[in-house]
Amino acid sequence: MALVFQFEAAGEWQRCYLSGVINEDSEITLGNLVTQLPPKVVFNFRRVESINSCGVRAWISFIRQAGAGREVAFEECTPEVVSQINMIPNFRANSRVLSVYASYTCGQCNHQRNELFQEGRNLPKATGTQLDPVKCEKCGGMMEMDEIEDEFFAWVAA
Ligand SMILES: [Zn+2]
Repeated sequence: MALVFQFEAAGEWQRCYLSGVINEDSEITLGNLVTQLPPKVVFNFRRVESINSCGVRAWISFIRQAGAGREVAFEECTPEVVSQINMIPNFRANSRVLSVYASYTCGQCNHQRNELFQEGRNLPKATGTQLDPVKCEKCGGMMEMDEIEDEFFAWVAA
């Protein structure tokens, strides 16, 4: 699905829901979006399906323009977005990251789910922080993060 965006008022901020795929075809959409951005914008990544390397390039150029003279934040970053943030600091530029999804797998029944980490709630303030245990809702077993925790949260210290 091609990238689409939708705005929603969130107090003095505007929330911008992104959905679909960020790829080489997203350049036009992002070019269109940058002309409509309010002074304070939170990008919501929950419905972003995937990002390829051309998409990353288009995004970096977009976020550089978006961050000029605006307050920008990211929320509900998918594990794929988090890995981009960790690999490429320019992916977030000066945006604040408010919440991220980490993917967890149950050690007993292999059930998988995403756990949301939110600033001010359960998001660690530094790497090496002991995270709250995550219980499987299917079997009650202990779930483990698919990524190495310190690597997944490396951006927190950046
Ligand atoms: Zn389980």
